[in-house]
Amino acid sequence: MAQTLLYLIIAFVVAEFLFSKVLSYLNIRSWDKPVPDEIKDLYQEDKFEKAKAYALDNNRVSTISGAISFVLTISFLYFKGFAWVDSIAHQVSGQYIIQGLVFFGIVSGVTSLIGLPFDIYSTFVIEEKYGFNKTTPATFIGDKLKGLLLGVVIGGGIYALLAYLFQLLGDYFWIAGWIVVSGFSLFIATFYTAVLLPIFNKLTPLENGELRSNIETYSSKVSFPLTNIMVMDGSKRSSKANAFFSGIGSHKSIVLFDTLINDMNTDEITAVLAHEVGHYKKKHILQSMALAVVQMGVLFFLFGWLARNPLMAEVLGAKENTFYLSLVTFSLLYSPISTIIGMFMNVFSRKNEYEADNYATTTYGAEPLISALKKLYVNTLGNPQPDPLYVFVNYSHPTLLQRIRAMRGK
Ligand SMILES: [Zn+2]
Repeated sequence: MAQTLLYLIIAFVVAEFLFSKVLSYLNIRSWDKPVPDEIKDLYQEDKFEKAKAYALDNNRVSTISGAISFVLTISFLYFKGFAWVDSIAHQVSGQYIIQGLVFFGIVSGVTSLIGLPFDIYSTFVIEEKYGFNKTTPATFIGDKLKGLLLGVVIGGGIYALLAYLFQLLGDYFWIAGWIVVSGFSLFIATFYTAVLLPIFNKLTPLENGELRSNIETYSSKVSFPLTNIMVMDGSKRSSKANAFFSGIGSHKSIVLFDTLINDMNTDEITAVLAHEVGHYKKKHILQSMALAVVQMGVLFFLFGWLARNPLMAEVLGAKENTFYLSLVTFSLLYSPISTIIGMFMNVFSRKNEYEADNYATTTYGAEPLISALKKLYVNTLGNPQPDPLYVFVNYSHPTLLQRIRAMRGK
């Protein structure tokens, strides 16, 4: 039975790998499709070639790193790698929480080390070559160290708490686990810009001037309680621009990248902000959080149901079941379901993007947003016509062309 289950898991890994390869192949091929009139002006001839070359370079790196992690995952599963790490954890400590921390420390440490060369190559070779990279080696190393520290403190802390509750509560663990993880996610969602973001970036309130007064006029027109408009030093890492909305209640804030402010005029930035206000007014943030909490409940319920089954450890080649081995097996079994849920979440997210665009169109105007989106696209060398199946699976936003057509009511 354990052997059959292992083959099933390996089949999942193979299927997901092949599916993602087919999608990237289709998406690379989509660069050769003729460009429709609405976005003909997007790229001049040489810039189009540059964008295509950028996509090919990125695809090459992700193909190589994807193939390596695919081969390693399969070998690790087949040669009982998790059972081996489990035996190391047992040698280090006899205490079950520490064993789990050692186990995940080794697994995630090795995973990050394997990914590191690709990360370095993407940032300092590819992004550099196309003029996007602004990250210095010092910033890069600092980011990695901060990420590591956060992972150890937050990841380790949550793991220790869950492992303790699992031991303590037995069949009722799933309810406690659900509350802990949902509560933590809500906390992060609320305080993201106040607590997490400042660890990596500098945030300053948008200064007084033409932009701020235009934004204030717009906000009072749509009666949006404008509390925080922050400017983030995105230019510290990349020339790519962005804007987003985060937080709930009185902690909500709109964050504009400094690169966005440099690339766009007042009208375009206000239109981008109007789109973000649209997400707030249409309650997209609350809806997404509610959906995440429900999903988390289902996840913990299923996990609680399977976790104490000895098969969860036998699949990985280990004799004795532990909380952490169950977590690994469960996440492997759950991965196809999570891929499918991810697709539906993208469908939901694209619907929300249309609604936010529509809100910006009716309250501010379509053309400034269209011109802002075009600039964002050109400045990131985006694919003008991504493959429809690729978009369905991977895109959280509709394509530029779809958004332009929707906003112009065609
Ligand atoms: Zn949006």
